[in-house]
Amino acid sequence: MMRGQKQCKNEECGIFVGPRTYVCPSCGYDFNFKRESTLDWKKLEKGDVFKSKSGSGPYWLTKKGERISMGYHGKFKVLNILTDGILARSLKGIETQHVYIYMGPDEKPTGDTCIEPGLGMWAIAHRIEMVKSKKKRVKQK
Ligand SMILES: [Zn+2]
Repeated sequence: MMRGQKQCKNEECGIFVGPRTYVCPSCGYDFNFKRESTLDWKKLEKGDVFKSKSGSGPYWLTKKGERISMGYHGKFKVLNILTDGILARSLKGIETQHVYIYMGPDEKPTGDTCIEPGLGMWAIAHRIEMVKSKKKRVKQK
């Protein structure tokens, strides 16, 4: 390993990349993803307000290795907790806009949605943080 380099953590890949690489150019591994938020999204309740961090969530990987974010960012109010994500309502713009905040496992583009292996839509969990818990608000009353 050359000085300052890091290794891709995807076991099937393992190539060496520059220290500031965010996405592995070979397999698309996201080095930022492992910095997960400590918030357990499954414990969120209807009415809780959370923030989805910019740049997190699913993205489209192009041939040039660019990540085009397909996630939702900003503040949202929880409507329902689903198996792999949160059904929420955006708190800015169109009030009635319902979005699905993907929180499931990493998934590479495969099958029909895949232009070329690894290219296309990557399902990556959003990174979220709590803004206002409904529970706390009730206690303060
Ligand atoms: Zn890799």
